[in-house]
Amino acid sequence: MPVAHADLARGDRWDRVRRRMSDLRVDALLLSLGADLPWLSGYQAMPLERLTMLVLPAEGEATLVVPRLEEPRVRPLPDLFAIRAWEESEDPTEIVAGLVGSRPSLAVSDRTWATFILALQARLPDARWHMASTVTAPLRAVKDREEVAILRRAGAAADRVAEALVGGHIPLVGRTEADVARDLADRLVAEGHQQVNFAIVGSGPNSASPHHDPGGRRIRASEAVVCDFGGTLDGYCSDITRTVFTGEPPTRFRHLYGVLEAAQAAAVDAAVVGTPCEDVDGVARRAITEAGYGAHLVHRTGHGIGMEEHEDPYLVGGNCEALAPGHAFSVEPGIYVSRRWGARIEDIVVATDAGPERLNSVDHGLAVVEA
Ligand code: ZN
Ligand code: ZN
Ligand code: ZN
Repeated sequence: MPVAHADLARGDRWDRVRRRMSDLRVDALLLSLGADLPWLSGYQAMPLERLTMLVLPAEGEATLVVPRLEEPRVRPLPDLFAIRAWEESEDPTEIVAGLVGSRPSLAVSDRTWATFILALQARLPDARWHMASTVTAPLRAVKDREEVAILRRAGAAADRVAEALVGGHIPLVGRTEADVARDLADRLVAEGHQQVNFAIVGSGPNSASPHHDPGGRRIRASEAVVCDFGGTLDGYCSDITRTVFTGEPPTRFRHLYGVLEAAQAAAVDAAVVGTPCEDVDGVARRAITEAGYGAHLVHRTGHGIGMEEHEDPYLVGGNCEALAPGHAFSVEPGIYVSRRWGARIEDIVVATDAGPERLNSVDHGLAVVEA
C-alpha cells in the first residue's frame, strides 16, 4: 500500500532508528511483516510464504531482500537501501544470513513468520535475537506533523460515517448485524478509506461482547447497538465507537451511559503531556467503579494508533510511560453487563503541548434512533 510521506521525513527516521540501535547495541534490524518496514521504506511486505526482509545494519548499507516477482512493487530509494531480488530456486534465508554475517545482536520484526525466524536461527546459531519493536515502537509511537495530519483526515472520514449512524441515517431495526457492518464498511470506503480493517456491530445481548463478530442476529426495537469501526486511509488508521439505542432507552441504560460518557470525557481531559498512560486508564476506571459498574469494565482504556490499529502506547494499568507530544491513541472505556447490554464510546486523541486534541468530534450523548 502506498504511504504518502516525504522522503525527507523518511531519512530522518532512518537516522533515529540507527541512533537507537547503537544505544541498544543492536547490530542489525531485520524487517519483514508489520508496519516498521513501510514506516521506514514506504514498502509493505506481502504476507506470503516468500520471504521479504530488509536487512538494516547499524553501520553499512541496507538491503531489501524481496521475491523477484514482487520487485516491481518496490519504489527504489537508492540513498537508503539496495535491492536484492531472489529467484524462485534460491533460499532467501541464506541470502539474509549472508548479509547479516557475523553480527551478533539482531532485532527482527515482531510479526515475522516463525517459519523464517526458525530457519534464520538455524543459519545464525551464535546470534542473539530481539524484537524489532524494542528499537522501533517508541519511535513510531511519536507521530510527526505529517502523520498527525493524515490521522486527522482518517478521523474525519470515520466521523462522517458515525454521524450518519447517530443521526439515524443508517437503518438498524430489522437488519442483521452483518448487514449493518457491511454498510458501515462501504461507507468507510466511500468516505476515503482505501481499506476497512474491522466493523463490529453488537446488538442487544451482543452489545455486552466488546469484540463481537457481527452475525445473523436481527436488530430489534429497544436495544443497545455498539458500533466500532475503522480502516486505513493513506497508510494510517481510524477507529471510532458509538453506541445507539433503538427507541426510548430505559432509565437504567441511560444511567449506565451517563456514567460512561462522563468517564470517557474525564479520561480524554486527563490525557495531557507528562501524564503516565496508566493514570489516564485510572481516571476512566475510577469514575466507572465509583458508580458501581467496576465489575463490568473488562478491557484497558485505550491503545496507540498509527500505521497499525493497535500499537504503542497502551493506556493500561502497569504502563507508567508518560504521554509525549505526538502520541496518538484511543480513549475507549466500555461498560458491559453480560447477556443484557453494553456500551462503549471511543475517540482518537493526540497528546499535544496545547492539551489533548480529539480527532473525533461526533456527539457523545446517547443517540436514540428511530425504532
Ligand atoms: Zn477493540
Ligand atoms: Zn474501536
Ligand atoms: Zn480502538
